Amino acid sequence: GPVLSFHGVTARYAPGSAPALDGVTVDIARTGHTAIVGPSGAGKTTMFSLMLRFLQPEHGHVALDGVPLADWPLAELRRRIAYVEQETPLVPGTLADNLRYTHPGAGDDDLWEALRAVRLDERARTLEQGLDTSLSTAVISGGERQRIALARALVSDPEILLLDEATAQLDGRTEAAIQHSIRGLAARGAVVTIAHRLSTVIDADRIIVLEAGRPRAVGTHAELLRTD
Ligand code: ADP
Ligand code: ADP
Repeated sequence: GPVLSFHGVTARYAPGSAPALDGVTVDIARTGHTAIVGPSGAGKTTMFSLMLRFLQPEHGHVALDGVPLADWPLAELRRRIAYVEQETPLVPGTLADNLRYTHPGAGDDDLWEALRAVRLDERARTLEQGLDTSLSTAVISGGERQRIALARALVSDPEILLLDEATAQLDGRTEAAIQHSIRGLAARGAVVTIAHRLSTVIDADRIIVLEAGRPRAVGTHAELLRTD
């Protein structure tokens, strides 16, 4: 069965306000890349908030392996589901502390492999303290911080990876390199991304088009173009 499933989920941020999600029933496959596409305000981030149990549904439920999220220990959800948003905060400490944050057992080789995957390995080699460089004192750009957050997610090799426009601000070559790593992860687990436009998720195995809190269409890029 699916790894995650929405069952008649309605979610609202304030009583009496319009629902952010309106009776959504949809599955996320155990492997492969699922993209959630739709205009601003469609409910994409709300779907992620529910999957991460940041938000509780008003009606219906989201299930992991068929078991409602409310019945899972939160620590287990955090272990199985990784999340990278547009400006993911780093933790105080060194580059290595950040890369190992969700997977303390990772070896240095794993850290360098993840840095290579986000095209940050050469830059990291120029740091005097290497992996032990403190991120509070080093001069690191916004794009580099975001790539560290993505590398951290790759190090943890999660069963489910949620990316909320996590590569939107990176240059094309870096984004292409990260897409390659995402393909690798999607062979073993579920990768779910959020995008505004269909044209940026041509490679996704499955696209959920969300509009005003409801899935309007579900299919591959080619299938959606045919039905559009
Ligand atoms: P998307 O990610 O597709 O842009 P969101 O899930 O962020 O859409 O938003 C869906 C709806 O919920 C929108 O109408 C938005 O205004 C509303 N919304 C989102 N977050 C909040 C919040 N924290 N408080 C109140 N309303 C919110
Ligand atoms: P981005 O925000 O995408 O990293 P920047 O314009 O900040 O883009 O950086 C451009 C290039 O310069 C990148 O290859 C980055 O690794 C490198 N770089 C950024 N900041 C520094 C710095 N303080 N010292 C050395 N190289 C840097």
